[in-house]
Amino acid sequence: MSTSFDYIIAGSGLAGLSLLHRLAQDEQFAEMKILVIDGEKKTKNDRTWCYWEKGEGIFEPIVHHSWSTLSFLTPEFTRTFQLESYQYKMILGDEFYRFVLEGVKGKNNISFYTGEIQKIYSEANSGVVQTASETFRATYVFNSTNLFYPKITTQNSLLQHFLGWKIKVNQPTFNPSEATLMDFTLDQKHGTTFMYMLPTTSQEALVEYTLFSPEVLEREEYIAALKRYIAEDLGIAEYEITHEEFGIIPMSLARFDRSIGGEKRIINIGTAGGFTKASTGYTFYFVQKHLDQLIVSLKAGKSPALKKTFREKTLDWYDRTLLDVLLTKKAEGRDVFAQLFKNVPPESVLAFLANESTAWEEFRIRHSVPLGPFISSGMNQLF
Ligand SMILES: Cc1cc2nc3c(=O)[nH]c(=O)nc-3n(C[C@H](O)[C@H](O)[C@H](O)COP(=O)(O)OP(=O)(O)OC[C@H]3O[C@@H](n4cnc5c(N)ncnc54)[C@H](O)[C@@H]3O)c2cc1C
Repeated sequence: MSTSFDYIIAGSGLAGLSLLHRLAQDEQFAEMKILVIDGEKKTKNDRTWCYWEKGEGIFEPIVHHSWSTLSFLTPEFTRTFQLESYQYKMILGDEFYRFVLEGVKGKNNISFYTGEIQKIYSEANSGVVQTASETFRATYVFNSTNLFYPKITTQNSLLQHFLGWKIKVNQPTFNPSEATLMDFTLDQKHGTTFMYMLPTTSQEALVEYTLFSPEVLEREEYIAALKRYIAEDLGIAEYEITHEEFGIIPMSLARFDRSIGGEKRIINIGTAGGFTKASTGYTFYFVQKHLDQLIVSLKAGKSPALKKTFREKTLDWYDRTLLDVLLTKKAEGRDVFAQLFKNVPPESVLAFLANESTAWEEFRIRHSVPLGPFISSGMNQLF
């Protein structure tokens, strides 16, 4: 096997395969030698990605389900809203991996290597990836492994952790055109805690018990919460669990570097590059937007190490401020989200959380949240 490439994609999860798909679709990269390395073969339905976007994205052919009505619940009020410009979309992990990997079959410029990466480092004009038995070099290494993650601690991060069950019932029970984004009518003793419910047919729904807190719970606690919610809040006595999903997503104030080394030959993508939104854990959409820009840069013969624009820094600051409020418990997460969804048009909240809000929407959002905690956290996160 050759050891020298134009591009190495280190990590073939969401970000790695999203990049591979773009490179493989574009004739301009047809002659580029690309190596994809991962510690495992990607076949399992190990996660369900949801995100909202306007119009159609490049993964539209594998959107499993989408919703145009969302609801948000607290003990005080329920807000059910029709989306006008966004659609809330779901993609299944195994369908995503299969779609990308089958799409590149037969392309001679693309190779795969399965093995644990031990080290990634820079040399003059190249990035180097080392496994137990091989050393590969490339003009650029696009990394989404956790080798360059900053230190995640309880001081700088919350964890978004959840257990989800896909359940199936015998009778038509769910409305497949309406998803529950956050049901906050739950005990908040562990921190920000809500149920998330995504019905895909009248008889099937994914129900996830989700928390933002410093530490994960014992498995029995997630199970007890799901059982109680399904029985008491949804009023379902009999059901079959057809799929289970557990996840931990870092919601962190730690700085994730976009590139490594003076020559910037190692480009971090995905969570590794800081493309997980700190205050919500959503990643899918931000990864796609970053990779769109990265491809434009590569095609123009420029470096794919993209600097943050002033706008991106401002949006980061909003995001870090919101996370700082939650992390330092200056306000309860449920109250903050409730005020946003009560006082601001819900689609503007979604635009804000997708980094697509207008100045007017941001003004409304700033004036809908408790001022004291946000000013104090905003100051903390200025530098
Ligand atoms: C269960 C779950 C559900 C989620 N749901 C959503 C959602 O609904 N919406 C959303 O926006 N985000 C969601 N996320 C968050 C985020 O989208 C995912 O974590 C996403 O997979 C991150 O993409 P990534 O490419 O950075 O990392 P990954 O997809 O985890 O890819 C990293 C890859 O690197 C490989 N790797 C790591 N270390 C090494 C090594 N040393 N050597 C070789 N290979 C290595 C791994 O095997 C993996 O394939 C979810 C996360 C989880 C865990």
